Amino acid sequence: MTTIQIEQTTQPKQKPAVEQLGFGKHFTDHMCIVDYTEGQGWHDARIIPYQPLTLDPSAMVFHYGQTVFEGMKAYKTAAGDITLFRPERNFARLNASNARLCIPAMDEALALQALKELVKLDESWIPTAENTSLYIRPFIIATEPYLGVSPSKNYQFIIIMSPVGSYYAEGINPVKILVEKQYVRAVAGGTGEAKTGGNYASSLKAQELASQQGYAQTLWLDGRENEYIEEVGSMNIFFKINGTVITPALNGSILPGITRDSMIQVLQHKGIPVEERRISITEIIEAHQNGTLEESFGTGTAAVISPIGELKFGDHQYVINNGQIGEVSQLLYDTLTGIQYGKIDDPFGWRVIV
Ligand SMILES: *Cc1c(COP(=O)(O)O)cnc(C)c1O
Repeated sequence: MTTIQIEQTTQPKQKPAVEQLGFGKHFTDHMCIVDYTEGQGWHDARIIPYQPLTLDPSAMVFHYGQTVFEGMKAYKTAAGDITLFRPERNFARLNASNARLCIPAMDEALALQALKELVKLDESWIPTAENTSLYIRPFIIATEPYLGVSPSKNYQFIIIMSPVGSYYAEGINPVKILVEKQYVRAVAGGTGEAKTGGNYASSLKAQELASQQGYAQTLWLDGRENEYIEEVGSMNIFFKINGTVITPALNGSILPGITRDSMIQVLQHKGIPVEERRISITEIIEAHQNGTLEESFGTGTAAVISPIGELKFGDHQYVINNGQIGEVSQLLYDTLTGIQYGKIDDPFGWRVIV
């Protein structure tokens, strides 16, 4: 175990009321920072009061986007335990993203240790109302002051945390999705499978156009043939066709979601047929036309499941399951949140008690 210096705040902040939580608007009293210096490695792990960063305006992250992030949650169970959900997977994925962005690997054990200490220190910030949680955002930025294009020599690993409200305060309502034909999120050989800000920056335009037309998210097709389904918004996507649940196989441009992986394992455990394979928009439209497209949903840490009630492709609208949440979608939502909040058994060993 590394020694992590802790400097406690002398001015704890007022906590927001549960109705005011929203997503990512409020931040806890403390943050964690670990520095990286070439030749020295990661050093000076510390927890300090939440505060602005001071960075040189030439810090490389501002210019060339050398940065990666993670998203995970801490939950308070009815028994009063603090739990994390598969946190080691997040730090393994952080390092996969690091490798793609030429950022030196983070010590995964140190990251988890720092996270646990931070969560314990700010435990009183974990909201306890139904389906609320503490959202955790670890990230790494390139800090070397240099305008040359090359990997930075210095970095900071930072963890900030935000109490978040229930994603579905008004119940789980399926959303309308626009199939995007012009813009793409990622391409084979690009950075689609890394969790990096640039993928988000390049997705904003299509998202803006979709919301102007009254659609909640963009359904992304592949960047080569504009035919194969990749993701929905910043979530992985699933379809249930004729009793089988299908999700696009990881192909290098799809982000390997931990919720996605968990859903696949839950489906297998429950004996529901599940396939990871290439799936085209043509196949989805055909399944809709012959009445076998039964359900569709996105998966990710923030919402767990976001059912899709309608797809718009070209001039046509395709309503799925009468715009209602499907049976399997509801089962998966209940199972995953049940495990996360300690309401049901965890046969997979996914819960980590802090
Ligand atoms: C983070 C992310 C996901 C979901 O990953 P989870 O680990 O399930 O939260 C899916 N797609 C994109 C593009 C993402 O950035």
